This record gives sequence, structure tokens and C-alpha cells, in this order.
Amino acid sequence: MANELQARAERWQSLREQIPEGVKLLAVSKGHPAEPIRQLAELGQIDFGESRVQEALPKQQQLADLAQIRWHFIGRLQANKVRAVVRAFAVIHSLDSLALAQRVSRIAGEEGVAVEGFLQVKLRPDPSKGGWSEAELLEGWDALQALPHLQLTGLMTMAPLGLLSQERRDLFAECRGLADRLGLPQCSMGMSGDWQDAAEAGATWVRVGSALFGARPMPAPSVTN
Ligand SMILES: *Cc1c(COP(=O)(O)O)cnc(C)c1O
Repeated sequence: MANELQARAERWQSLREQIPEGVKLLAVSKGHPAEPIRQLAELGQIDFGESRVQEALPKQQQLADLAQIRWHFIGRLQANKVRAVVRAFAVIHSLDSLALAQRVSRIAGEEGVAVEGFLQVKLRPDPSKGGWSEAELLEGWDALQALPHLQLTGLMTMAPLGLLSQERRDLFAECRGLADRLGLPQCSMGMSGDWQDAAEAGATWVRVGSALFGARPMPAPSVTN
């Protein structure tokens, strides 16, 4: 146990040293119980990512004393979960349609909260993921910008499995370029296996799960969004 704690603390420290300045670490805690989250929060990690509401809410309750934690929702968001997510998360990385973004804004207004949002883009064919194509995003952009209770700050993307390192770098650079064209400062891209490529290409957030927490002990779908 003590070894496990120490190993996790060392992985966190080492990631923080490797991640370039200007890039923030989102600790993806899905599939892990509350204790390791508490440990990292006590070391100073503020931002944690979860991808399933039913899993996240009980853990958030167990960690309610750690008021400094900022919860980020990174999973596919179903319409009937929007209110729960708006109440419990400060940031949503997975806004993959105009209807969803509109719903988030409306419900955030009803709840009297401000939500920060990232638009999930899909710049390569990938049947397992949702997301905006570049054309869809440009077409929906005016409507998105008009949403009063959703503060859109960036784009989020995931590389399909099986890309070569250079192909991933091209994809991440494209995402960065699109964000720049839209005037969006943030790019949420890169996970345990490819965060270095993403950081080099201009990510401002890297979302790291297994390289920080270890293999996921709790059943959680692998990336399905
Ligand atoms: C699970 C997940 C991650 C983290 O994946 P790891 O490979 O464990 O680092 C990042 N982003 C999203 C959207 C995820 O669902």
C-alpha cells in the first residue's frame, strides 16, 4: 500500500516535471476510487477528469471536503445527464453537437452557474467517437458563440487508435490551428500514450489517466466518445 502511494506520488511529480510550461495536467480519475484522488489532491493536483456521471457523483461526495478540486467532464454526455453534470462539474470537454451545447447553456442558466466548455472535434474518421467536423464547426460557430451561459474556451480532440506518431502530431497541429482560427485559447488533447505529441503541437490541457493512476481497477468503458 505504502509503495503504491509512493509510486503514484512519483508518477505525478515526474509528469509535472515533464509537462511543458503552459500545459496543464488533467488527472483522469475515471475507473479509480476516491482514495487516490484524495492523495493527489493533497499533493496539490486541482483538476480531475471523469467520464461517467453515475461513477463520478459518489466519489465527489466522498471528496466534498476538498473544495479546491475542479471537476472536468470528459465523457460522452447524454441529454438526460446534462443537469447533473452542470451542477457537479466546472468544465465540460466533450460538447459534440450544437443541440448539446444549447442544452448545457440553457440548463446552466436555469441553475445559475457558469460552465466552461470545450468543443470536441473529430478531424479524422473514427466510428467509435463523436465530434464536430471542421465544416460543421464553422457552420455552427455563430450559434455557438451566442450561447449566453456557456463559456467556450477551447477544442478537445482524441487521436484514433493506430496512428503513427507523425500522423498524431499532424492531427494535433490541425486541432491547434482550428482553435487559433476561431480565437479559442485552449486545446485539450493528448492522453497517457500521446500527451508529448499533443503538448508539442500546442495542447494547453493534457488528459492523463493510466500513466498517473495505473491501470483502471474499476470497470469503465475505454474511450467511447
Ligand atoms: C480515459 C480518457 C483519457 C485518459 O486515458 P489514459 O489513456 O488512461 O490516459 C483521456 N481522455 C478521455 C476523453 C478519456 O475518456
